[in-house]
Amino acid sequence: MSKGHLFVISGASGVGKSTVLGKVMAGRDDLAFSVSATTRSPRPNEVEGVHYYFVSNAQFQKMIDEDAFVEYDGHMNKFYGTPRQQLEEKLSRANVILDIEPNGAFAVQKKRPDAVLIFIAPPSMEELERRVRSRGDTQEDQIKIRLERASWEMEQRPKYHHVVINDQVDTCADEILKIIAQTADK
Ligand code: 5GP
Repeated sequence: MSKGHLFVISGASGVGKSTVLGKVMAGRDDLAFSVSATTRSPRPNEVEGVHYYFVSNAQFQKMIDEDAFVEYDGHMNKFYGTPRQQLEEKLSRANVILDIEPNGAFAVQKKRPDAVLIFIAPPSMEELERRVRSRGDTQEDQIKIRLERASWEMEQRPKYHHVVINDQVDTCADEILKIIAQTADK
């Protein structure tokens, strides 16, 4: 029997989701973060088993074959998936936050209709573009791909229970904490 509630949070690359999620996670002590498996390489600050399980294509395929994922998706030329066992284990003792993109969010919702879906949106697409460009580490063709992906993600907003705008990080995190409290503290 799972004890916790499931909160699925999506938001386009560049929207500032990881900063917001860091504040949300720090805002309650009954939250656990679902750690996904991915075939992409770790970024400099990322820790194995904390941010992701970094796996090879062969390992990812083996997990698919073994039905080890609640959901998985291929995007931006990489694979990402939610390992079932760690999710069940976390849900047995806490409320769980999943940071996954829309296809994954809707797949989770099919399996767990009680999941609360939250979308973090930028103040505007112009602002999102400015944020993506200001990172300064991305090639023009990559920027174009990210922005196209972001507008597709934005089109999925109506399918979420809540849309929160990340204009200001603290306000956005507070709004998400209020949404969580509505379900978790009922
Ligand atoms: P990043 O590579 O920037 O960490 O993540 C890229 C995208 O993959 C983000 O939108 C993130 O939410 C999504 N993502 C991360 N883990 C998973 C997962 O397990 N499943 C799915 N479907 N998407 C994921």
